[in-house]
Amino acid sequence: MDLDKMKNNMVYKQIFKRGIDDQRILDAFTDVNRHLFVPKGDWEVAYEDYPITIGDGQTISQPFMVAFMIKTLEVEPGMKILEIGTGSGYQSAILATLGADVYTVEIVHSLAKKALETLNSLGYRVHSKVGDGGLGWLQHAPFDRIIVSAGTPQITDYWKQQLKVGGMMVVPVGGFLHQYLVVLSKESEYDFKEKELCQCVFVPLRGEHGHQE
Ligand code: SAH
Repeated sequence: MDLDKMKNNMVYKQIFKRGIDDQRILDAFTDVNRHLFVPKGDWEVAYEDYPITIGDGQTISQPFMVAFMIKTLEVEPGMKILEIGTGSGYQSAILATLGADVYTVEIVHSLAKKALETLNSLGYRVHSKVGDGGLGWLQHAPFDRIIVSAGTPQITDYWKQQLKVGGMMVVPVGGFLHQYLVVLSKESEYDFKEKELCQCVFVPLRGEHGHQE
């Protein structure tokens, strides 16, 4: 199993060939070893073109979707980014590699713990907490960017309030089974612009503002 080769193939075929040609993004996906964020039994499929189960009914998102959301957000080094849904920690590692100051929230304790262990062991520094990401992370607001990696019925006011004026967020908005990826920009304190980018499928956001099971 040549994991480096599989990773380079993923970057070329799934990300570059689909139109993401920002060298910094391609380099970040080449730097981060995705297989180290999935169970060992799944290393073989770590670089495939789909989400992978990471336990507790959750998944690590499809590589292209992670790249597409990050490209949409025009992430620059030093930006303060709030991530909702740490999951495996893979996307946090990509953001940290791009030089972002990452604040990540995960509602499932065991996943948050595992992700932080993985991130720390690989030398990625992020701020992480266990909690309901629907509420954002007020203590560290405002954020330049917010990236939501679970499907939500609506964009919460907490996220809107905790975004800087001039900032952007990407959020999968819609039903339990599929959503639209929405990019929202904050033009002024009370003025928001939203655009639908594409259809997508994310696991449902839990918690007070998520989908009720
Ligand atoms: N970005 C992750 C993929 C996350 S999958 C990665 O790279 O691996 C979505 C994650 O959102 C799951 O881990 C799920 O437990 C988490 N989640 C769901 N509802 C949440 C909420 N209200 N607050 C924080 N995390 C939540």
